[in-house]
Amino acid sequence: MEKRIYNFSAGPAILPEEVLKEAQEHLFALPGVGMSVLEISHRSKVFDKIIAEAKEDLKKLLAIDDNYELLFLQGGASLQFSMVPLNLMPPKNKADYIVTGSWSKKAVKEAKRVGTVNIAASTEQENFTRVPKQEEIKLDPDAAYVHFTSNNTIYGTEFHKEPEVGKVPLVCDASSDILHKKIDVNKYALIYAGAQKNMGPSGVTFIIIRKDMLERSQDTLHSMLNYKIHVDNGSLYNTPAVFGVYIINLVAKWLKNLGGLDAMYKINEEKAGLLYKCIDESSGFYKGHALPESRSLMNITFRLNSEDLEKKLISEASAAGFDGLKGHRSVGGLRASIYNAFPKKGVEDLVSFMKDFQKKNG
Ligand SMILES: *Cc1c(COP(=O)(O)O)cnc(C)c1O
Repeated sequence: MEKRIYNFSAGPAILPEEVLKEAQEHLFALPGVGMSVLEISHRSKVFDKIIAEAKEDLKKLLAIDDNYELLFLQGGASLQFSMVPLNLMPPKNKADYIVTGSWSKKAVKEAKRVGTVNIAASTEQENFTRVPKQEEIKLDPDAAYVHFTSNNTIYGTEFHKEPEVGKVPLVCDASSDILHKKIDVNKYALIYAGAQKNMGPSGVTFIIIRKDMLERSQDTLHSMLNYKIHVDNGSLYNTPAVFGVYIINLVAKWLKNLGGLDAMYKINEEKAGLLYKCIDESSGFYKGHALPESRSLMNITFRLNSEDLEKKLISEASAAGFDGLKGHRSVGGLRASIYNAFPKKGVEDLVSFMKDFQKKNG
């Protein structure tokens, strides 16, 4: 079998080896089915079971109660930038957005096509090196909802606690940190996440929606853009991403076997801790982009003293089997994305590589 390298890509991103091996083993024919998951009908009993198991396990992992519906849709997190305002903004037609990076800005762009957007807080002036403090967030108590991005994939910042929004429904784009730790889902009205960062392959978007929110979806909406229609049809209004849901189901089982999200969080803290320690103890050779209080556990962004040195590190790292370390063009530098599935050994190896590189070039 082909040897695997360390994949630090921000998304689509690394998946657990156990999941890939099981999918590979069963790709030709699912046990007892005689057909590949790529070939089965989305209306078959086999798929009914896959989607039901995936929902059940995700509900357990995140302790989601019966007050919420779970959906697997397509169109990526980017379609949610439109679906959220189309479904949830009326009749007030105004919502609060907390802007902490490029993805929040894209969410704002689409929401403005539907109604009035109040920028409740933005850290753009500081090049998104942090998320805002609670006292900086200027909320409208009459807003239809408050939208925020829990983890800023590009800048490497993260909310370690969700903003307090009182009685206003809280909506979250959790694309790049869903399932990295247990959260109190009851604080949210809606959570959405493109699967390809921390849950599965691209092509499927996971949505958790509180049942009362469904009353807002108007009949005049296009069916494919209407949460209520998708809920009424159990994510099967049209053909869903069958393979994507299958992989999410395997990933959920992998998380369960690992001991659930508290166990996962502990490992994530350890992994990120190793990299941030290496940055902090480098006497300024490596400079983290995010301020310490806003550091992401999923995407670690850092720079070196010159772009030439950054290029050199990326090219030597890539030759040594560390792939995908080039930072997003809007931040520059480097980004190590170390989602749930990224092995601790890979982080340890990167840290020794970075220390070695500093010795030779510092
Ligand atoms: C990747 C990402 C998106 C965009 O996801 P698509 O599935 O490509 O539409 C949106 N928000 C966040 C936080 C992301 O990391």
